[in-house]
Amino acid sequence: MPESSTLDRYAVVGNPVAHSLSPRIHAEFARQTGQLLSYEAIEIATDAFAAGIADLQRQGYRGLNVTVPFKREAWELCDRLSSRAETAGAVNTLILAEDGSIQGDNTDGVGLVRDLVQNLHVDLAGKHILLLGAGGAVRGVLEPLLAESPASLTIANRSLDRAHALARDFKDIGNIQVVAYPDLEEKGYQLIINATAAGLGNQLPPLSGEVLDPDGTCYDMMYNLESATAFVAWSSEQGVRHSYDGLGMLIEQAAEAFYLWRGVRPDTGRIASQLRGN
Ligand code: NDP
Repeated sequence: MPESSTLDRYAVVGNPVAHSLSPRIHAEFARQTGQLLSYEAIEIATDAFAAGIADLQRQGYRGLNVTVPFKREAWELCDRLSSRAETAGAVNTLILAEDGSIQGDNTDGVGLVRDLVQNLHVDLAGKHILLLGAGGAVRGVLEPLLAESPASLTIANRSLDRAHALARDFKDIGNIQVVAYPDLEEKGYQLIINATAAGLGNQLPPLSGEVLDPDGTCYDMMYNLESATAFVAWSSEQGVRHSYDGLGMLIEQAAEAFYLWRGVRPDTGRIASQLRGN
């Protein structure tokens, strides 16, 4: 094997980031495709994102994934943006060019849609979709979800003004309805996506069980290798037969970033079960 210093270097940057599964996922992609690269998790101080990226550029890193809380700052830092990153207003993938310029992309949305449609066979066309949350993750997924032609797309969020702001920002792309949690229609949605950060504290969004349709699908962007996330456990207890966590989304967004950097598409098929140890 070549010395690690001769390998092309990549990393995920965030704060905190030590818990990230991305190094394991990218190591598996590299092994599978025969690409010679290294991939680390690097913590950057919350008030020093631009300086941290400049430092990594000087060290010769070729690409970076960006996670909480830096996706917006990454968007602001880029010299060029893909159209999906431009629309999202958030960047999760940086390509560091040899001329010192930085190109930004957002692979979260394509990751979510690939996991839902290709892996889980959840058809989005003509469906009534409810998104819980109005943060950076929702920004990244709105355009790809609307591109699947759902019958309707509704956002519920604790702070309604944030949800209204998103609906305004995306009004040229599609119609987004904003509804307060207590006003959501009973069993009105065939797909409910939890994109709140509530699960980080093992909490649930303030959603009534009446809103859940047992024949519909629940999807939690949070993931957990050892046990069900709070939202998946709760929706399953409420009788929803198809409830999934966001590990597949994480793997698919990583695969798209890997493709942007290396021009090779890894096979994502077995990675979720490898990570879960079964
Ligand atoms: P942000 O901090 O940008 O947004 C957080 C959102 O969660 C806000 O809408 C906030 O509401 C809401 N929220 C927080 N706590 C609660 C609560 N207790 N009850 C109800 N709503 C709450 O986070 P992101 O959008 O970046 O991330 C959201 C989640 O998605 C995280 O869990 C993250 O790990 C996950 N994620 C997963 C990915 C994957 O690949 N699987 C990719 C990206 C994100 P308010 O505006 O009212 O404060």
